[in-house]
Amino acid sequence: MQSYTDKADVGHFIDGRATPGSGTRTQPVFNPATGAQARTLRLGEPADVDAAVASAKKAFPGWSNTPPIRRARVMLRFLELMNRHRDELAAIITAEHGKVFSDAQGEVSRGIDVIEFACGIPQLLKGDYTEQVSTGIDNWTTRQALGVVAGITPFNFPCMVPCWMFPVAIAAGNAFVLKPSERDPSAALFMARLLQEAGLPDGVFSVVQGDKVVVDALLTHRDVKAVSFVGSTPIANYIYETGAKHGKRVQALGGAKNHMVVMPDADIDQAIDALVGAGYGSAGERCMAVSVAVLVGDVADRLIPRLAERARALVIGNGMNADAEMGPVVTRQALERIENYIAVGVEEGASLVVDGRGLKVPGHEEGFFTGGTLFDHVTPDMRIYKEEIFGPVLACVRVKDFTEAVDLVNEHEFGNGVACYTRDGNIAREFGRRIEVGMVGINVPIPVPMAWHGFGGWKRSLFGDTHAYGEEGVRFYTRQKSIMQRWPESTEKGAEFAMPTAK
Ligand code: NAD
Repeated sequence: MQSYTDKADVGHFIDGRATPGSGTRTQPVFNPATGAQARTLRLGEPADVDAAVASAKKAFPGWSNTPPIRRARVMLRFLELMNRHRDELAAIITAEHGKVFSDAQGEVSRGIDVIEFACGIPQLLKGDYTEQVSTGIDNWTTRQALGVVAGITPFNFPCMVPCWMFPVAIAAGNAFVLKPSERDPSAALFMARLLQEAGLPDGVFSVVQGDKVVVDALLTHRDVKAVSFVGSTPIANYIYETGAKHGKRVQALGGAKNHMVVMPDADIDQAIDALVGAGYGSAGERCMAVSVAVLVGDVADRLIPRLAERARALVIGNGMNADAEMGPVVTRQALERIENYIAVGVEEGASLVVDGRGLKVPGHEEGFFTGGTLFDHVTPDMRIYKEEIFGPVLACVRVKDFTEAVDLVNEHEFGNGVACYTRDGNIAREFGRRIEVGMVGINVPIPVPMAWHGFGGWKRSLFGDTHAYGEEGVRFYTRQKSIMQRWPESTEKGAEFAMPTAK
């Protein structure tokens, strides 16, 4: 297996082989904790997409005709390998993304959950059957694979988000081409090797590294039948429109601004723990990170001083240090963007309670570190409220009551995740019913659904009709066919000209 500790070139995995590809363009991959270039990524060209799609197309008939239980057995072996190599994969993630090692282990575990779900594909593909819809006629529905499908994924979960897609797609009988994020491209290659070791035929899973050039080649390729995307909202919108224009089935999951409502009756200790973990965990670079605390009634005055203390006390360092609670952000550009948003918040008149800017971690002076930042008195007209910052910046908005809290959340353009902390069952119930957000937590800060429930936001957090993974994922990667069958006795003859009805 390729070594991930040296300054190796990172290339593609096409038709069962590692390849540098056809192009000459490259891009550095950094270790965010040190700020040093760790590897060089080879950016793909349309010819590399053509090669990957051609090999997928060639592999598809054999793979889709393989009995589902045998496809499931390949997944089962892949599951075992992922479990065996979990820590190795987590270390690769920390080295390129920056998140703390325990969080990277958690990411791999949540990816493994979906692989485990995909092992049940024979049951999931079972259709419906009606005997005797008319005399001597039976009707059934079956779900069949689409063909070559593609996934385009973001930097923040280089293992888990691809695992939202390819295990279900492949188990359902498709051939999959993955375009990972150019910031942390190695996890995808590691999983490609494990899939091969699990016995997946060449061409069923390929990785083409790259940027917009590769994405556009996938979106317009006539042999790509469906595209799954996860990333920021402007790109999700573009993927949805361009993919649809080229006749593809598209699911495009976008950005977020997740609110956590804290009611006056909530357990304040639990709410503070939740805000610290969900606001600053993974340096706020989670699509389900809490970036807005909606503090109802008098709760703000009780909560903010203690929250500020916790934000100042965060242990920030190299994600491979066992005691680190928060690592660096992914790139220098991300660091600059986040710190610029903090300046914007100050200019807009929000109260800067804790300023994380300019943090230097001893021994890692060139690393992309920023501290936890906390704003109070944020209002809905401010950019730091409206826009996704994607960093460890928590904005507190004060509202008078529950109705104002619900209206605030519902008026936001994003609707990915949301949480409500309360001890009142009726408030909890009403919150779940009235809130216009795809994933809701009641006293759960990051309500990422389990593998069999499916993941997806509402409003501008998702373009398309189906959520990722779970049964929605199976529906996305298959199309329904209805078959009606009659075996008439040889004496039955004669054309029928009226619309068939049950006889
Ligand atoms: P991004 O949108 O910059 O990139 C995502 C993918 O799109 C990458 O593979 C990238 O190479 C590609 N891409 C970037 N610019 C492109 C362009 N102009 N044309 C075509 N392709 C392009 O996102 P990111 O910075 O990697 O990830 C962070 C974002 O992802 C955040 O907005 C976060 O909320 C979102 N996200 C959402 C979910 C979700 O489930 N809704 C999950 C994880 C991340």
